[in-house]
Amino acid sequence: MIGCVRRGRQVEQFSREFITWEKPDDQRWVCEGCLTPSERQSIDADHADFAAAMEAAGLGTNADAMPETEYLMREDLANSLYEHDRARKGN
Ligand SMILES: [Zn+2]
Repeated sequence: MIGCVRRGRQVEQFSREFITWEKPDDQRWVCEGCLTPSERQSIDADHADFAAAMEAAGLGTNADAMPETEYLMREDLANSLYEHDRARKGN
């Protein structure tokens, strides 16, 4: 089980609900209902940044048809682009 750090709510790690949980401070889990609007905003921005990095690395809509080795190589590239972007923005 994983517990929400704010109201102590607990869910199974592989449950459908857990997909919506986030780690605003990169350490502790917070359930969807306990996220503040500003946390939600920065998480959404973060997801958009990651999607942009995947797109820039060539993993847009046609990634499914790609050989696995190429996919993994491009995924590494996407992660570096994303980390670089995060460092540039200071978080
Ligand atoms: Zn909660």
